[in-house]
Amino acid sequence: MTPLARSLRLAFTALIALAGTAPLAAPLTAQERQPLYLVNANVVDGVSGTIIRDATIVIEGTRITRIAPKLSLPRGSGMRVIDLAGRWVAPGLIDAHTHIGTLANAKRTLFSGVTTVRSASVPAFQDVAMREQARAGQILAPDVLAAGVFVTPNLGETVLADQRLGALAGGVTTPEQLRALVRVNLDRGVDWIKTRGTERAGLPDTDPRKQVYDQAELRAIVKEAATKGIPVMAHAHGDEGAYAAVAAGAKSIEHGTFLSDSTLRLMKQKGAWFVPTLSTVVDLARPGGDYDDPVLTLRGEYMLPRLEQTIRHAHALGVRIAAGADTDYGAESLTRISHEVTRFRALGLSPVEALATATSGAAELLGIGARTGRVVEGYEADLIVLEGNPLEDASVLQDVLIVITDGRVVLNRTPFGRQGAR
Ligand SMILES: [Zn+2]
Repeated sequence: MTPLARSLRLAFTALIALAGTAPLAAPLTAQERQPLYLVNANVVDGVSGTIIRDATIVIEGTRITRIAPKLSLPRGSGMRVIDLAGRWVAPGLIDAHTHIGTLANAKRTLFSGVTTVRSASVPAFQDVAMREQARAGQILAPDVLAAGVFVTPNLGETVLADQRLGALAGGVTTPEQLRALVRVNLDRGVDWIKTRGTERAGLPDTDPRKQVYDQAELRAIVKEAATKGIPVMAHAHGDEGAYAAVAAGAKSIEHGTFLSDSTLRLMKQKGAWFVPTLSTVVDLARPGGDYDDPVLTLRGEYMLPRLEQTIRHAHALGVRIAAGADTDYGAESLTRISHEVTRFRALGLSPVEALATATSGAAELLGIGARTGRVVEGYEADLIVLEGNPLEDASVLQDVLIVITDGRVVLNRTPFGRQGAR
C-alpha cells in the first residue's frame, strides 16, 4: 500500500468510527423506557400561578403520567430517579419564531431549554426534514413546526430548494405566483406558511415600514394555505402591511414594531397573535450577535422604544402575545427565548402571562396546546429544570439545568448547579 493510500484508508476508518460511535439520538434504550421519577421538585405548570411543592413527577415513555406531592416510590428495580433537591420544573420552552437550518444549531436550541419551535422559514426545507428526523429520534432537535420557504417577492438562492421553484425565479408577485409558491410549500409538508406584509428590518438597504404585499395578494396566500388547513404567519413591521395581513386572515403578526392601536384592535377581534421578537431588535441595536452593522445599530435604537410601546398597547388591549427569539441559534447568536420572557415582564406582563408567552400560550398559537406547553398529567414530558422559581425571577430561564424532551433526558447539568450534586 502506498503512503497516500494508507493515509486515505486511515482517514476513511476514522470516519467510519466517528459515524458508528456518535449517533445524534437513537431510539429509546431499554433503560430509557423505564419510568422516570423526578423527586423533590417544585412545579410551575406554565398556565397558572399554582405551585406544587415537594412534588414527584412520573414520566412513562413520552408522557407525564403523574404529578403529586411526596409520592412514595414503588419498590422494584429498573426505574430511574433524579432527585431535584428542591429545584424548579417548568414546561420546556417554545420559541414561536426561529430560523434553524443546521443540526448544530438545532442542538444548541434544545440545550437552551427550547423543546418546541415554530420555524419562520429556512432556505431549503431543512425544517421539514428536521421535524421528521427529530420525531423519529434520529437527531437531537426540538419538535419543529415547519414553515418551509418564505413566500416573498424574491426567492434568490431559495429557487434551488425545489425544482418547481425555478418557474418563480423571476419573482413572486402575482396571485398566481403566490398560490404556486404556497402549493409547493404545502406539498413539501409544512405546518405554517410564512409571508410578509412589509420589508425586512435586518438589511441596511430595506425600509421595514414599507408594505410589500397588499390585502388581495395576502388573501390569495391565506386562501390557498387554508385549502390544506394551514395557517399563515406574516412578517410585518409597518402598520399598513400588518393591517392588510390581519385583514386578509393571518394568524400571527411577526415583529409588529409600528402597529397602530386600530390594527391591534383588529387583531384582538380576529384572534390574531402578536409575536414581537423584541430580543432581535435589541440585538439589532447592539454590536455583535446575529446583526452587526452600524446602519442597523441606529435603526435598532430607533425601533426599540416603538416596539416596546406597541407591546404595552397590545397587552393593554388584550392581544395574545407569544415569544419568538427570531434567531438561527447559531454560534454567534446572543438572543434567547428566555430574554423575551424577561423583557415582557419589564413591559407589564404578569409573571404568569410572561411565562405563558413561551409555554402554554405559544403552544395554543401553534395549535399544540392540548399536548405540550404545560406541566400537567397526560401532557408530553417536555420539561426544563431551573435553579429558582421562574415566576419570581424570569432570568433563571436563561440557565437551564436539565432538559427533557418527549420523556428523554437530553441535558443534565445538575452536578455543577449552585446546589451541587445530590
Ligand atoms: Zn424571522
